[in-house]
Amino acid sequence: MSKLSRRRLLKNAAAVGGAALTAPAASALGQSAAVVTGRKFRGWVSRGTGSGRTKLEELTLRPISGRQIVVRTEGTNLCYSNTTTVLGLPGMFAGPLTRMAIIDGHGGVGVVEAIGPDVRRVQVGDRVCVSGTPQCGNCYQCLRGRADMCQFLGRQGPNDLVPIADMRDGTPVYASSHIGGLAELMVTFEEWVVPVFTKAPAVDLAMVCSCVSVAGLGASTSQALASIAPGATAAIVGCGPLGLSAVQGARIAGASRIIAIDPIKARRDVALNVGATEVLDPNAEGDRLVAKVREMTSTPNNRLWSGGRDAGGLLGGAGADFVVEGAGADRAKPRVEAGPDPTGVLPLRQAYEMCAPGGHVITTSLPSGNISLSAVFFSIGGRTHHAGQAGGANPMRDIPRFVALLDGRQYDAKSLATRVVPLAGMVEEYEEVLYRTTITAIMTA
Ligand SMILES: [Zn+2]
Ligand SMILES: [Zn+2]
Repeated sequence: MSKLSRRRLLKNAAAVGGAALTAPAASALGQSAAVVTGRKFRGWVSRGTGSGRTKLEELTLRPISGRQIVVRTEGTNLCYSNTTTVLGLPGMFAGPLTRMAIIDGHGGVGVVEAIGPDVRRVQVGDRVCVSGTPQCGNCYQCLRGRADMCQFLGRQGPNDLVPIADMRDGTPVYASSHIGGLAELMVTFEEWVVPVFTKAPAVDLAMVCSCVSVAGLGASTSQALASIAPGATAAIVGCGPLGLSAVQGARIAGASRIIAIDPIKARRDVALNVGATEVLDPNAEGDRLVAKVREMTSTPNNRLWSGGRDAGGLLGGAGADFVVEGAGADRAKPRVEAGPDPTGVLPLRQAYEMCAPGGHVITTSLPSGNISLSAVFFSIGGRTHHAGQAGGANPMRDIPRFVALLDGRQYDAKSLATRVVPLAGMVEEYEEVLYRTTITAIMTA
């Protein structure tokens, strides 16, 4: 070996800009940074309070570093939970976040345009899901198999966000949740990104990778909570995009009966198209909703020596083996059929009560207020409750699996992505989401 001296190594490193020793190209341990700065892009920036707080702006990208990643947005779901901040509805958070210029939108899919020098998970050119739930792999929850509760999820306050771009007047712009999906570019961190190797159309991919689809498919099939068993009975309470994904997850998991419950007829019709075997309208059933589900899920006989069970009672009662709840509170009065409780607490309680003894209840929604349950029923009723942020989904393990369900034509994204809008039509379209006149909407950029 000739003259491989330290001096010579340093000289060679200097010849390529000094970067060779720290970031060898195409190494398994690191990649050289593809630096993009000064790039112009359009994004919806929210600031202040009240309607009109979200405006389309031309922005200039800041340099990235460390574990940051720039993703060119292909599509993002207009999540119902963002209606309050995008549209400036009453009840929006107050405080420093309202004074910051923030790109909303907590998820999306796209193509990696640039990576910081410390990024290992993806390469430039990869298609990725920027997940609503991060997965660092190292925090207390990630180490215990609960990546749905990754502690980085809570690091989204005003002091955690970093400026990713500037407005024309020099105002720094931040990405909500370290994602900022409502823009042509997303600037995020490695922890939020999942590579997905697929040729699926952008709208379908944005649908299956959305927070709501991931939560619904996670709640019904994730190994972290209680994946639905083949042959089991399942009830899905609430048939928005999350519940309709849970209906599909139940079908894919092999549930024998899938009872979909929603006040909106159009949503019940979609539920039947994507896998529900029966549907119920909570307004029509009223106080009998729980009893009705128990009747429907009774075994054909009540002969206990023959595998039967009684239809009623605290301990012997029938009910669905698995219940997935995805109702949640109304942010505004729907312009379609409203449910029996705008806080979302009643459907949550009914979900618990319609579960069979020994069964599992997986709750995923954002209700408001407090819940009260019969204490003895809660104490010894035999139901296991799983509070599933993102449906208990583990992003790096489960999102590629959900994309495989899309590619294998097992997951129907088109029936859920009932409206598709370009970037410029985003705010107007959010009203359709708010008033529940569409199942959801995908913005393409
Ligand atoms: Zn969401
Ligand atoms: Zn973590």
